Amino acid sequence: MHVPLVLTDFLDRAVELYGEKPAIIDDHHILTYSQLNNRVNQLSRGLKDLQIQKGDKVAYLAPNSTEMLEGFYGVFQVGAIMTSLNTRLKPDDYKFILTHSESKVLFVDEELYPLVEPILSDIPQLEKVIIHGAPSGGHEGYDQWRNQFSTETFDREELDESDIACLLYTSGTTGNPKGVLLSHRSNYLHALSAMHHLRVSDQDTLLHVLPMFHVNGWGSPFYYTMNGATQVMLRKVEPEAILNKISKHKVSVLHMAPTVLNMILEQYEVMNIDIDQKVRIVIAGSAPPPAFVRKVEEELGWEFIQVYGMTEISPLITTSALRGSEKNLPKEEQYLLKAKTGYAMVGSKVKVVDELGEDVPADGKSIGEIATRSNNVMEGYYKNPEATNETIRDGWLYTGDMAVVDERGFIEIVDRKKDVIISGGENISSIEVEGALYDHPSILEAAVVAVPHEKWGEAPHAVIVVRENHSLSEEELKNYCRAKLAHFKVPKSYSFVEELPKTASGKIQKVVIRKELWKGEDKMVR
Ligand code: ATP
Ligand code: MG
Repeated sequence: MHVPLVLTDFLDRAVELYGEKPAIIDDHHILTYSQLNNRVNQLSRGLKDLQIQKGDKVAYLAPNSTEMLEGFYGVFQVGAIMTSLNTRLKPDDYKFILTHSESKVLFVDEELYPLVEPILSDIPQLEKVIIHGAPSGGHEGYDQWRNQFSTETFDREELDESDIACLLYTSGTTGNPKGVLLSHRSNYLHALSAMHHLRVSDQDTLLHVLPMFHVNGWGSPFYYTMNGATQVMLRKVEPEAILNKISKHKVSVLHMAPTVLNMILEQYEVMNIDIDQKVRIVIAGSAPPPAFVRKVEEELGWEFIQVYGMTEISPLITTSALRGSEKNLPKEEQYLLKAKTGYAMVGSKVKVVDELGEDVPADGKSIGEIATRSNNVMEGYYKNPEATNETIRDGWLYTGDMAVVDERGFIEIVDRKKDVIISGGENISSIEVEGALYDHPSILEAAVVAVPHEKWGEAPHAVIVVRENHSLSEEELKNYCRAKLAHFKVPKSYSFVEELPKTASGKIQKVVIRKELWKGEDKMVR
């Protein structure tokens, strides 16, 4: 009989091997793994007291914090399902997710409570709200509530590896957020794979920069815990706070968005904070240019690794960490590779296929869709079997991301399938056109989308946000693009706006832009 792969193993292992080692450092405490385990047991008892049963959803709305990390294990011990919410949504989004997920309990940080207060009375199935911090709005404070319960070993709910561990919502970049059901097994095998590729060990100190509620930072509460690494919490993502924590706590690993890394690069010199501390690796998802990779490695001395994933796959399936002889390539070639999306991680097969499902040639220019067969893959979208069947076909999950593959097998994302512009039979990558626009000194932000075109079917249209105190005309822009891009890729029309519609995690919502531009057309809006 096999042993079921259940996520509570990870905390057990950490307590057994690293019980007296610091597990968590936040602004208020340093907790060892044994102390963390005691709090987790209290939380599980509290959930039991609230009649939470196997399969019930427990929602969390919290920044990276001790309470959030212990939430994962406390919820799993009672067999319940962790539903962590993005902290940057609007009240109506919370209403949608809390209702759709049928969450029974909500743990909410005191600073975030005002975001949900107005909608709580609209969610009848939500039985209890507990505030991380001081009591508020008639709801109990977490510490007082938790401390009523014993720290002794909790009599766990028996779980199988196919049981659902979490219900996570996608970012909503291409439409409404979708609820993704991930099993214990998927998260478990993802953690082992990520641990292997990122070489995580008990010597590591991780600074939690990416939010662990979201797919970007998801998974780190598992593989850093399993290895007994120390996890430093960061409530607000600011370059100065990040550098101070790196220096103070001897941080060795960071996962962060390239935009945050860029802020550090721009500001570190003037901040006068000693960052001689050797950060071992910085991991980022979303393709930065090779020059950016060079800057990170040469100026900061941190090894850069790109990863790719999505909520539906727990989330990571590729990494750009160099292998074997690739480490001996000239530096510039190394940066080119590291700036790519990468190759398949252990436990995932990844291919790039054309419309007929055939692999595209590994020539660095033939475009296809990324599909994956993976141990990490979701069980399905919650209450949406049609979308599940559309996404998972013949055992392969179709990611909706378009990419090319080079002769080394490194994949490079060129666009989302829905964002590719098909003009006169040519495929145009909206990202490539945006890249050219972003090089213009007067452009702060740009989004390129397809609009209907009488002759070509579709044509690229650019929506531009001009930098403050700069001016730019349509004619100037057209001439600029003609000098930089193939003729058919040059946007045929332009609009100038104050800001672009974005998701809570800062991704541009081209679906919203298209809806506006395609008004009145019979064509289906993608
Ligand atoms: P929705 O599915 O609701 O439209 P979303 O796809 O943005 O939203 P997430 O699961 O948060 O939701 O994000 C996954 C997507 O992020 C991927 O499909 C891909 O488009 C993008 N992404 C992830 N990693 C990378 C990367 N390394 N480079 C480029 N894009 C990436
Ligand atoms: Mg998606």
